[in-house]
Amino acid sequence: MAPLSSPLPSLLRHRGCLQKANVCKILQGLHHRPFRSCLWKRNFGAAYHGVGQLLSHQHRAKNYAASVYSSSDGQDMTERLWSIYNETKRQTEDLTPVISTNSVNPDTIFANNEMSLRDIEIYGFDYDYTLAFYSSHLHTLIFNIARDILISNHRYPEGLRKYEYIPNFAVRGLHYDVQKALLMKIDAFHYIQLGTVYRGLHPVPDEEVIAMYEGCHVPLENMSDFYGKVMSTSAPVCIKTDTQKSQQNIMMSITVLQSSHGHTMKQFMDIFSLPEMTLLSCVNDFFMRHNIDYEPVHLYKDVKEAIRDVHVKGIMYRAVEADIEKYICYGEQSHAVLKKLSEHGKKMFLITNSPFDFVDRGMSYIVGKDWRDLFDVVIVQADKPSFFNDRRKPFRRVTDKGALLWDRIHRLEKGQIYKQGNLYEFLRLTGWRGSKVLYFGDHIYSDLADLTLKHGWRTGAIIPELRKEIKIMNTEQYVHMMTWLQALTGLIEQMQVHRDSASQAVVEEWIREREAMRPQTKDIFNAQFGSLFRTYHNPTYFSRRLSRFADIYMASISCLLNYDLQHTFFPRRTPLQHESPFWPEQSHVSLSASSQPHRTKAESD
Ligand SMILES: [Mg+2]
Repeated sequence: MAPLSSPLPSLLRHRGCLQKANVCKILQGLHHRPFRSCLWKRNFGAAYHGVGQLLSHQHRAKNYAASVYSSSDGQDMTERLWSIYNETKRQTEDLTPVISTNSVNPDTIFANNEMSLRDIEIYGFDYDYTLAFYSSHLHTLIFNIARDILISNHRYPEGLRKYEYIPNFAVRGLHYDVQKALLMKIDAFHYIQLGTVYRGLHPVPDEEVIAMYEGCHVPLENMSDFYGKVMSTSAPVCIKTDTQKSQQNIMMSITVLQSSHGHTMKQFMDIFSLPEMTLLSCVNDFFMRHNIDYEPVHLYKDVKEAIRDVHVKGIMYRAVEADIEKYICYGEQSHAVLKKLSEHGKKMFLITNSPFDFVDRGMSYIVGKDWRDLFDVVIVQADKPSFFNDRRKPFRRVTDKGALLWDRIHRLEKGQIYKQGNLYEFLRLTGWRGSKVLYFGDHIYSDLADLTLKHGWRTGAIIPELRKEIKIMNTEQYVHMMTWLQALTGLIEQMQVHRDSASQAVVEEWIREREAMRPQTKDIFNAQFGSLFRTYHNPTYFSRRLSRFADIYMASISCLLNYDLQHTFFPRRTPLQHESPFWPEQSHVSLSASSQPHRTKAESD
């Protein structure tokens, strides 16, 4: 049995034995979350084996406290606990570089559900942020136009013009409390992540959040409906910005929340919603800064309308079309994917909410003037997600010049452009049903939810944020932070059973250290809201929806270029809380062998 002072080489040498002996339960038990990402497992599996060993050699005993006591022979418990702490920390330091070499390739396709490309005959695509990826200039453009619409059309104060778009202020998937004008991140269990609640551009103190929501849990009836839409914004409440009155207003807000049966929480799932969230925050900030009494429900509605006008009135479309090279990125990669699928005889279709002119200009830039030759069916202004539910809207043919024809549609022909329609008619006319169809989109609700739940198509989510987050997770700084955080959590879990006051004081100090580390694990991704996928210890609400509605997910459609069209995607078998971690992937050796597509080029080389 390895002694407490076992050095790193010894730990690594004994890894195989340790795995067989299942000695890492102490730490593993803490992380067998149903939504735990495979990235996490890959990076920190080694930490389990190394650091876990320090505690695990005595873990067979049911009561580890008794074990430590009996083995301490009068040794001062405080000293004993700190000795284990220091040794664990030292092992963590030693293991970090080893774990860091096992980085994840940001171009990997990740699976929530087993799926083989061998079975896919038909590939469908959304357009915006799926085939067409936009530069950050687009968010600045949307923000500026919507801000100016608020001032000119909705008579908002001229002073708002000083606000510029703040890149990286918000992240996708956040919730906005329409009545309280608060932007926040909520986890998979409907708990608000403290430290991520913003009023305007400033964080709300945790105590105030807890007072407003009588804790951190947001009841289901206050959340958005299944597709993230707000059903009702009734019972408006005024927010007084005078801080002296905050307590009174908190009480008023609580009353409204309790008496309202509407969905007061709106979730922002669209990549286009990043400028919307930022604009909402800026206008809130302006009103509060100038101590202006305003109605947050009206503000939400006006901002939403202004953002919608940017799209619906064609302002954004015209701007992008006028300077397409500035706004569309990585077009050649989307082209390569379409070409590859076409060369393999796959059928392809496009269903987008954008208008034909805009799509035509973008696809001509990405693929070339003959882009329509690649697609068997092209549907524009589809009005997703109602396209997937509403049987009433018939397809309508659109000419190249945008004229609408009135003839009844009996088949969907290659080379033609169709507007609106509905999925039921689409299925009848094409016969493209079930799991031989794979549809890609970036909007988890509008693009993917109905297809998964009602129609049985396979679904692929495009999550551009993955690329940035994986790069951060691959850094040694992040690996070190998370490895130590998990090791420390394991120590706390094990040593909390020592109920004498000296031991409790030590454990309390560890708990404080763990609490102090929390903001770092958030800030490394985004200073305001942290990772798109995780709160401090849980998956986010976004992650839960992603795992529910997407069979596979990836940073961009170009990730398909890394796989042949026979490839089967297997989800990592994440142990449930009550399961033993006997799965082979826990083995470092099998990880190295099986994870080749996940590894970075540098490593492969
Ligand atoms: Mg889209």
